[in-house]
Amino acid sequence: LIKVEGLKKYFGNNEVLKGINAEIHKGDVMVVIGASGSGKSTFLRCLNLLEEPTDGKIIFDGIDINDRNVDINLHRRKMGMVFQQFNLFPHMTVLKNMILGPVKLLKKSKEEATKEAMELLERVGLADRANDYPSQLSGGQKQRVAIVRALCMNPEVMLFDEPTSALDPEMVGEVLEVMKRLAKDGMTMVVVTHEMGFAREVGTNVVFVDKGVIVEQAPPQEFFTNPKNDRLKEFLSKVF
Ligand code: ATP
Ligand code: MG
Repeated sequence: LIKVEGLKKYFGNNEVLKGINAEIHKGDVMVVIGASGSGKSTFLRCLNLLEEPTDGKIIFDGIDINDRNVDINLHRRKMGMVFQQFNLFPHMTVLKNMILGPVKLLKKSKEEATKEAMELLERVGLADRANDYPSQLSGGQKQRVAIVRALCMNPEVMLFDEPTSALDPEMVGEVLEVMKRLAKDGMTMVVVTHEMGFAREVGTNVVFVDKGVIVEQAPPQEFFTNPKNDRLKEFLSKVF
């Protein structure tokens, strides 16, 4: 579904991504781990063109999206993104947050968009909060809304950038649960996270990014029990 070849990103003279190669197949859950500043967020942001890659190819659905002629907005619609900091519109209710994209961009009727939004809210146990404002929700609830808001756009891939890092510990589980179910339903996902339990249980493959390069990539079982790269060994010894 996605093939990344020699992806590079510079910020000024700072080479943050130094030639990333990766393949993401339909239904994969790729878990991305690595130290702070290694380039994980930049990698995700390049995938949906929130950052413009400096060099390399990102082939998505057979099209190189790093080509000037690609319609960025059309491409972004196929990728849902969930951030650490929820990014809900504070002045809109939960429901309004959810139907905005489908009505504006997918040209759905308000009725249809509302019906779909309510079904999704139902699935994450938040139908009764549809008319609340984000400020009235807990962090875990906000993040669950952010996830289903992205799903409203019918994305082909979901990108998660440390979706549970800003949450109080007791709320991490409910968000991971939603992500697990999503994975089980076959959603293709790229997840940057420090939740090693999630990586082991849900990941189809785990990649370790070190200073802008993927230095190790393997199915979770192998990745965690038999790491080869020295930096990864050191990293894992710190998290466990
Ligand atoms: P963290 O775990 O802390 O989120 P990360 O792996 O996601 O780290 P990135 O956010 O991708 O790391 O940042 C990688 C490097 O790129 C850092 O050195 C950062 O300072 C730099 N960087 C990121 N975004 C920008 C930007 N918009 N302008 C300039 N430099 C940037
Ligand atoms: Mg980051």
